[in-house]
Amino acid sequence: MTTPLAPNALRAETLVEALPYIRRFSGKTVVVKYGGNALAGTSQHDALELFAEDIVMMRLVGMRPVVVHGGGPQISALMERLGKQAKFVDGLRVTDAETVDIARMVLKGQVNPQVVAAINVHGNYAVGVSGVDGGLIRATARNPELGFVGDVTAINPGVLTGLLENEFIPVIATIGSDATGQAYNINADTVAGRIAEALGAEKLVYLTDIEGLRTKVGDPASLIRQTTADHLDELIADGTIAGGMIPKVTSCQQAVRSGVRRAHILDGRIAHVLLLELFTDEGIGTMVVSDQLALDAHLAETKAADLIAAEANTDEHSGAES
Ligand code: ADP
Ligand code: MG
Repeated sequence: MTTPLAPNALRAETLVEALPYIRRFSGKTVVVKYGGNALAGTSQHDALELFAEDIVMMRLVGMRPVVVHGGGPQISALMERLGKQAKFVDGLRVTDAETVDIARMVLKGQVNPQVVAAINVHGNYAVGVSGVDGGLIRATARNPELGFVGDVTAINPGVLTGLLENEFIPVIATIGSDATGQAYNINADTVAGRIAEALGAEKLVYLTDIEGLRTKVGDPASLIRQTTADHLDELIADGTIAGGMIPKVTSCQQAVRSGVRRAHILDGRIAHVLLLELFTDEGIGTMVVSDQLALDAHLAETKAADLIAAEANTDEHSGAES
């Protein structure tokens, strides 16, 4: 019979479980996209505070977190206050000149400093930048029908590498600019993927308002724990993946096919979901790797870790009995 661990012992065990992950991720770049919906969740401030704690913890154990945030619901809210109707075509906001001004105001003037300030409650870590700063995000119009909705033409990560080298946490508002200086509103999911790729990140993490990818959107039991970019092609083709999930999934695919080792889609409403994913054996949400080979390697790794853990348990028990 196992005796229950005292609360302090449990705490110690949790910390020890985190050790191999802390070692593995030390010095590695992790790009985290924080969704506007997660931000706007029921307990907005609590959610943001918990998120900030996770980001600071990542930084303090030696990772290099980079935050990319959305702000769709917040843009819609200000438009409403200004009496402007939000219009969407295929899930993309139609962005006239006035709307791109509003988007820039909300993202760089409201959401970005909120995230920066929440992180900096813990120390002088975060620096807010928009895609305009240092030419970080170069953009071009996607489709004249959508107005100033931009596609990324280039990522110039110099401003980010400079901040990371100086141990800052970059927090990015996804406004880009074209060669003439015209501003564009750019999908934050897309930007997160492209930045992860440009920085050669170890991981790309999406925090959203659902616990991960599902094979049936309405059925929580249909959560996909791990999958490959190749398999996701099928799920996009057959319509399983829809709406706001499409830019996340296509960005995950592109990122893992371009050298980012793993991408994750997690529920930003779960307290400390980032720590649960990064520092525990179980992981959480949906993990995406490039192909079957990478998935097999991951499964073998997990199995080996399980065996070691099982062995340690047996040792403990025989020790207790002797
Ligand atoms: P965010 O603000 O994080 O970008 P979105 O609303 O844009 O959030 O995207 C997440 C949404 O995608 C989910 O709430 C869900 O309704 C939708 N979705 C569509 N297809 C799927 C799927 N196969 N699995 C999970 N969620 C899906
Ligand atoms: Mg979205």
